[in-house]
Amino acid sequence: MVFILENGVSIEAVTAFRKEFEDAGFSTIYAPGTEHTAICLLGNTAAVDMDTIVATHPIVAYGRRVTEQYKAAGRTVHPDDTVIRVGNAQFGGGAFTVIAGPCSVENEEQIQLVAESVKKSGAKVFRGGAFKPRTSPYSFQGLGTEGLSLLSHAKKQTGLPLISEVMNQTQLPLFEDVDIIQIGARNMQNFDLLKEVGKIGKPVLLKRGLCNTLEEFLMSAEYIMASGNEQVILCERGIRTFETATRNTLDLAGAVLLKEKSHLPVIVDPSHAAGIRSLVAPMTRAAIAVGVDGVMIETHNNPAKALCDGAQSLDLEQFDTLMQDIKRRVEFEGRSL
Ligand code: PEP
Ligand code: MN
Repeated sequence: MVFILENGVSIEAVTAFRKEFEDAGFSTIYAPGTEHTAICLLGNTAAVDMDTIVATHPIVAYGRRVTEQYKAAGRTVHPDDTVIRVGNAQFGGGAFTVIAGPCSVENEEQIQLVAESVKKSGAKVFRGGAFKPRTSPYSFQGLGTEGLSLLSHAKKQTGLPLISEVMNQTQLPLFEDVDIIQIGARNMQNFDLLKEVGKIGKPVLLKRGLCNTLEEFLMSAEYIMASGNEQVILCERGIRTFETATRNTLDLAGAVLLKEKSHLPVIVDPSHAAGIRSLVAPMTRAAIAVGVDGVMIETHNNPAKALCDGAQSLDLEQFDTLMQDIKRRVEFEGRSL
């Protein structure tokens, strides 16, 4: 249920209104917008008498029942784009932001080389997996805490904010120096994990599950938001279809529809979507063309020797060339990078 407020209502009146419902066991979302300011009630609102609330609260202009399940993530309550800022990076609000780095953290030399190089090329966030979700238990599982300290060191050297994947909630205390918490595709519906990252005060990048619908994806974002964290970035990373020639099928139409249905920033991961290095640049160009808010690109100093996902990783020169192309296109569109 959403209440649209009269213009010029004081913050004290808004706080008192929210408290009334929070005391009754609901969560509330405050959504100031360019057209109007709204308060959304989250919880089971079936028994709430909307007309009485409108009639008895002078700060409320009118009320509406929200039909979408994803009340916090949807545009009905929050028509303006959410903008998330991390270091010099901006997600949403017209920027096109590039995250780059290797699939997994392997050693100090690799991390230093890649971090320095992608920064020089123009990436705004450095990625690297310390805990890796691998299909086979015999594959490299990541360096764990040692990987996280190598990432911290790279952050000190370059100033680039970090993103890394957390696989379960017990790992969260280790991620203090990580600026954006990544929830991987395989954990998109790990509801306990979603609730936990809903309680931390930093942005979460949520990747779409391999076989999940857009509605399910938005409901997972809703879990994080309903737990108190509104800084969610959605990432389309390809879904599983009958096609086996590419690793996954990049659902670009889905990415555009997400931006229509939700105010959250949406980025594309062409690396995991395609699984093939030569497709990363064309799919990045497509992502710019359809208007998403950024890309995440796997980049490695020596892809042939990568311990994970080398076939889809760009080398440092290929990444630099792609960045120049991205800059040209994004600037041509009048967007910031
Ligand atoms: C990754 O980004 O390293 C990763 C494992 O991606 P996904 O969860 O999309 O497979
Ligand atoms: Mn990978």
